[in-house]
Amino acid sequence: MGNVNPVGPRSVYDEAKRFSEAAVMAYNKSHKVNTHLVRIFNTYGPRLQSNDGRVISNFMMQALRGEPLTVYGLGSQTRSFCFVSDLVEGIMRLSRSDEALPVNTGKPIEWTIIECAREVLSVTGSKAVTDFRDVPTGDPTRRRPDITKAKRILDWEPRITLFEWLERSLSFFRDHIATEQSKAEIAEQ
Ligand code: UDP
Repeated sequence: MGNVNPVGPRSVYDEAKRFSEAAVMAYNKSHKVNTHLVRIFNTYGPRLQSNDGRVISNFMMQALRGEPLTVYGLGSQTRSFCFVSDLVEGIMRLSRSDEALPVNTGKPIEWTIIECAREVLSVTGSKAVTDFRDVPTGDPTRRRPDITKAKRILDWEPRITLFEWLERSLSFFRDHIATEQSKAEIAEQ
């Protein structure tokens, strides 16, 4: 059923998701078509937008540039990160099923943000430090999907570990920085 603040700073995002599910369900009932509702939790991997402000892209770009990693609050809030190919497999299985009600997809292993910062430093070999900043208003302290239903009806669960996917994403972020640098050099000439 969910529990969200309808007038908070994240309310447009939260309510948009709720409205979308309501619209899909109404369409399913009125037109008797096969629809699915996938609830996607934090997902990362290659081709993530490097400047979208999400924690992994921020940390990877900062570590590779040797800048301090911006940790919001004490970094004790948790998130559960799923590698994109695992998520796509879950969505494909759901699309081939008869399940019309919402299904959580994501990796149910929780990481504190400070643990993520350490992991990124280890993967990148960066000596960067952490820079503690104010925590954004309404930032959830914990986020972990319960994927019992996905396991039962889709026989699906993510396989790739945080460390593996950070390593797989590393070359993408390195290439991105190299492209940025060559563009800046061309602009200077
Ligand atoms: N976060 C952080 N530093 C950053 C970006 C994000 O500490 O540079 C924190 C943010 O406060 C949140 C968590 O990392 O607690 C995940 O943020 P993100 O925006 O990636 O995902 P979401 O909040 O939508 O789960």
